[in-house]
Amino acid sequence: MAKKTRIPIPQVNKVRAILQQEVNSKCPFCNNEDVAYFEIHHIDKNPSNNNSDNLILLCSICHKKADNNEITFQETNDVKFKTKSNNSSVQFISVTIDSENCGWEPIVDVPNAFKIDNTNKSAFPILNFNFINNLDKTILLTSVKLISKILPIGLSGPAIIDNFLKPSPFFEMKISHNGTIENLILKDELIILPKMPVKIQILLYSQYEEHIFSPKGKYVLSFNFKFNNDFWKDIPNVVLNCKSENEKLQYIGYN
Ligand SMILES: [Zn+2]
Repeated sequence: MAKKTRIPIPQVNKVRAILQQEVNSKCPFCNNEDVAYFEIHHIDKNPSNNNSDNLILLCSICHKKADNNEITFQETNDVKFKTKSNNSSVQFISVTIDSENCGWEPIVDVPNAFKIDNTNKSAFPILNFNFINNLDKTILLTSVKLISKILPIGLSGPAIIDNFLKPSPFFEMKISHNGTIENLILKDELIILPKMPVKIQILLYSQYEEHIFSPKGKYVLSFNFKFNNDFWKDIPNVVLNCKSENEKLQYIGYN
């Protein structure tokens, strides 16, 4: 097997400092705090891939384990994603539904759950994701990722409302088939000013061939927001037309 080319990490001290912050000065696998002896591990084991998403700081013991697959690629990758999401420069505040501009409303007493209501408003849910920029400098929202899970709908189906009303500019995202990742890369990055809150509006739709539909089933949606093309922020799951992922047959939407 050909030996992989190792490309030295540019600005390695700076990178190391950022990676140390990400893991909170602890080895993410064994909680060792002897950071002076930590090493930078290439998650995909390609020593020429110095992309920040591919680097993680580990103690030397866990680094060896990762190199010989005692700690798997998946485990390291998951930990990396988690540590990056811990980045506190942007803070998730809440997700709400824009009931003014769409025919959806919150489900009482269930956080992050929304249902379609029988109104004359648009059947496309518009979610408001509220974040705050904790830094003294501007941050950019660069992309949004959505993984959907469709739940069995049970006996009664939701009402069909085909009312299209689209308010002012905001982002639109497709709810895809189970497990498919939708990645929305913003052409115009959204600027979040220093120390300021921001509301990110996303209209959701589903699609079959060329036809666009409003989401009528029960969904569990996991959104991730990427800032500065650098770190991801994950937020609690959003559920549509049901109270939780575990809900089986009971339909609690419009009837
Ligand atoms: Zn360790």
